[in-house]
Amino acid sequence: MSVSEAGAAHHVSASARAGAWLTVDCTALADNYRRLARLAEASECAAVVKADGYGLGAEPVAAALAKAGARTFFVAHEEEGRAIRVVLPSARIFVLHGFMPGCAEAFQATGLLPVLNDMHQIQEWSATGRRLGRKLPCAIQVDSGMSRFGVSEADLRAEAVFEAVVPVLVMSHLACADSPDHSANEAQRSRFLAMAERFPGVPRSLAASSGIFLGPAFHFELVRPGAALYGVAPNAVTPALRPVVRLDARIVQVRTLQAGDGVGYGLTWRAERPARVATLGIGYADGFFRAQAGRASVWYRDKRLPLLGRVSMDSVSVDITEVSDPLAPGDVLEVIGPHQSLDALAQTGGTIGYEILTALGHRFHRHYTGS
Ligand SMILES: *Cc1c(COP(=O)(O)O)cnc(C)c1O
Repeated sequence: MSVSEAGAAHHVSASARAGAWLTVDCTALADNYRRLARLAEASECAAVVKADGYGLGAEPVAAALAKAGARTFFVAHEEEGRAIRVVLPSARIFVLHGFMPGCAEAFQATGLLPVLNDMHQIQEWSATGRRLGRKLPCAIQVDSGMSRFGVSEADLRAEAVFEAVVPVLVMSHLACADSPDHSANEAQRSRFLAMAERFPGVPRSLAASSGIFLGPAFHFELVRPGAALYGVAPNAVTPALRPVVRLDARIVQVRTLQAGDGVGYGLTWRAERPARVATLGIGYADGFFRAQAGRASVWYRDKRLPLLGRVSMDSVSVDITEVSDPLAPGDVLEVIGPHQSLDALAQTGGTIGYEILTALGHRFHRHYTGS
């Protein structure tokens, strides 16, 4: 029997082999896109797919969003832009970090659009255009008060440099949009308005997910949601749109403990009475953070199962003493799903949904449902 015959004879599916299953609901993702687009109906609704589509897989996510109507996409790094270009042959793709010094000429050959954040990038983009004999398109980011990316008010007075590029978007980013009452929102908005006057007629963009919920005055000509598309709540009072991810971890081993037995590194948890414990195939290398020890739970049907002891790199232990069903290796427990939202899990871990999503590992079996 050849090697491939042996493989075929013993074939089991990738999902049967996997220690955890990540399910991405592309129908919910598309619904979220359309809902955000309706909220900002006078503006174009772009989609942010940086960090591997917020951990969910840039290519399938970008394809689903394009199908839902998105025509403009944002990534952070040039390599991310090159990767999604494969599935988005005709979309506009902006790269938030622009290009690294010395890389403008190679960058323009990709057909991606750089977001130019400082005068070095603007000068290099102008010089590249002069060499090629045409002015090159770009977005210009202005710093309206976050002190992270963008040119300053003083930079904007350097007339000559801006004449040598073709801005197709002028943008800025809000620091406090998830706190709707924060005074910085209006301060940044009015500063952005004034700075954008330097580029008459050029479409403007200020709002990411949370900014969309600040109302039409923040929408300008284009909005750029990321997190809300993927089911992260835009602020503390507005519920998340439809959940997009579900994460189920599988049981690798079930064991019975006697009173006094310890669990995991450091033996930080000890059984006070006989207990049943399941060891799950998910750990901090998969984005299930160590900080969750003693705080988070997972779920079996309607039963909450507390974590026991520390989170290991590849596994975590949970208390299944109260479960009457005979749980066994291969059975699944809910980590993110109907009983525990992404934002709820983030809260117990002392973090935000963004960090949970983008830390999701690549060892899960990924399953895309819907569109
Ligand atoms: C990440 C990012 C976004 C999207 O932000 P969300 O809060 O995820 O919607 C938009 N614009 C810029 C500049 C970003 O860095």
